Parts: sequence; structure tokens; C-alpha cells
Amino acid sequence: MNLHNFEEMIFPHILDRGWDYYEEERIEKIEQLDPGLFWAEVMGRTLYDVHVQLIGSEIISLDCNCPYADGKICKHEVAVLYYIRDAEWWKEGPASSLTMQAVQWMAKMERPALEAFLLEMLRKHAVVRDAFWERQGD
Ligand SMILES: [Zn+2]
Repeated sequence: MNLHNFEEMIFPHILDRGWDYYEEERIEKIEQLDPGLFWAEVMGRTLYDVHVQLIGSEIISLDCNCPYADGKICKHEVAVLYYIRDAEWWKEGPASSLTMQAVQWMAKMERPALEAFLLEMLRKHAVVRDAFWERQGD
């Protein structure tokens, strides 16, 4: 199971709940402790600790301390997987083809369209907001 195919491996109702948790920004905190080792706090009935270990995009282990996760994949883990997957493009180097495409695309866009796009991304994605606030402190 990896970041690109986990949706095929997990019960749809757990996926849906995990996606909702992600969208509702219930991931209060996420840190990469070591390369590929993530620790997150997800707000459910109470605050749960989720650990995800990746090697590349391969999911090596998933752990959550909620009662449901005993031997099963839970919605808290799924929420964190969605978060990490969305954040993945930050890991691409500055010379990546994605960056090159983005530069070309931005050159063609009018500023109001770029601003609208940025606002939409800020609204939808906690990881973009985090990066934005970090930049404000520079
Ligand atoms: Zn859980």
C-alpha cells in the first residue's frame, strides 16, 4: 500500500470519514520526526496520536491510539494519509518538472486569477496556510 493507491485498500466508509476529518482540519498538528516518519494529532472524540512511517511513497506502518485502530485502519490514519499526500509536492526539488510547469503556467495567468487561486488553496489546504504563515514571519 502506498500514498497513491491506499484508497483502493481501505473500506469506503473509513475513507469518507478520513477525508471529512482532513477537510474539517481535525489534524491539529503534524510533524516529520525523521525522514518518512510522521507524527500527527487528530481531533476525534478526543485527541488521538497517529504515526505514519513511509519509505518513499510506500506506507510501511500506520498506528493510531483510538479504540477502532486495533488491527484496522481508522479514519484518523486516513486523514493523515490525505494530508501527507497533498503535501507531497513540497518535497519536489526546485528544478522539478512540476516547478517548471508551474512557472510557465503562472507566466500566462493574470494577477487577479493568481490571487483567486492562492486564496482558494489557502482556504482548502492547511499545509498551504502553514507555509504561508511561516513566510509571513520572514
Ligand atoms: Zn484512530
